[in-house]
Amino acid sequence: MKNNLHIKTKSIHVGNTPDEITGAVIPPIFQSSTYVQSSPGSHNGYEYTRSHNPTRTRLEECLASLENAKHCLVTSSGMSVISLIFQSFPVGSKILCGEDVYGGTYRLLNTVFKSYFEIRHVNTSNIESISVEIEDFKPHLVWLESPTNPMLQISDIQLISGYAHKHNSTVVVDNTFMSPYFQNPLDLGADMVVHSLTKYINGHSDVVGGAVMLNNHELYNQLWYLQNSIGPCQSPFDSWLVLRGIKTLALRMEAHAKNGMAIAKFLSEHSKVESVIYPGLDSHPQHDIAKNQMSGYGGMLGCYLKGGITESKLFLENLHLFVLAESLGGVESLIEHPAIMTHASVPFKERKKLGISDNFIRLSVGIEYIEDLKNDLNQALAHI
Ligand code: PLP
Repeated sequence: MKNNLHIKTKSIHVGNTPDEITGAVIPPIFQSSTYVQSSPGSHNGYEYTRSHNPTRTRLEECLASLENAKHCLVTSSGMSVISLIFQSFPVGSKILCGEDVYGGTYRLLNTVFKSYFEIRHVNTSNIESISVEIEDFKPHLVWLESPTNPMLQISDIQLISGYAHKHNSTVVVDNTFMSPYFQNPLDLGADMVVHSLTKYINGHSDVVGGAVMLNNHELYNQLWYLQNSIGPCQSPFDSWLVLRGIKTLALRMEAHAKNGMAIAKFLSEHSKVESVIYPGLDSHPQHDIAKNQMSGYGGMLGCYLKGGITESKLFLENLHLFVLAESLGGVESLIEHPAIMTHASVPFKERKKLGISDNFIRLSVGIEYIEDLKNDLNQALAHI
């Protein structure tokens, strides 16, 4: 029955049934590290919170349903779930990764795991390039973001999954920018979908967390085994906060997308702005793919200011509402300078190739009153 529900209903009800003992409508936080056993090895399914926790189980149930998946594993951060997935591949595996991915993912792969895997990067939004690379490299794992962070390139998940599966490659999509509300990669053929819960899913910039959703039982068991062995579990309180945040996911995502489109149009017409990258604009190079595989365009956008580092700093220092901070997906508008902040760990040469230049700014448009946001951007741009 739960599988037939709309995501607006699932985000409120799945994992949120009232507490069986007390009837509390809001399930309690099981703030316990350990669980009583009636006889050694005899318990109710919970032994120790690193392995399982009832509050986290509820969150996993809810998140699995949002991505139409059978399984979900919640971890302590987006990076820890990404790391667990890489660690589930044997040493010597071939990993084909998008060239435009979150700086932390790039760093993890190219420093921590550099000597463990054979790694290649490719522009996943260019279907020619990726199909040739899959054919040639025959990767065990294909890793991509769509839209990418920070350039907001869109990759055709269905086509890529088709090419990859011909070679038995596992396809993982980091769906953090869209949230399950606007895009469901498993339905498009991907094998796993990853989220930094820190962003839209929690939505209130007060929790760090990660999740992977998937259908393959064996892979799920392997990932759970790794999490239990290595230990990056999310705390019960953080799981509870995310479960609470998810209830407004639909409302927030609609508001982010509406404001995102309005700010994209506003900046496109501004005399101090060179260009805007937003998947919802006709001018976006993969707008047609975005239209096809996403049900909304979200609240993330990029823009090039006219000028260089001086102009970027002047603009960013003079904003009052847009908060100059790393991260994204909170109800408040956030803004950042990828070259200095989120993507500083990507080598200069790579950044240059991608277009992460000194005049490139990334915005996470919040859900505030749109005219206030436009006024804030306008007054800060006037300082340039
Ligand atoms: N994936 C994407 C697309 C991100 O933007 C981030 C963080 O910004 C992460 C993964 C990592 O998530 P976390 O910061 O929760 O570890």
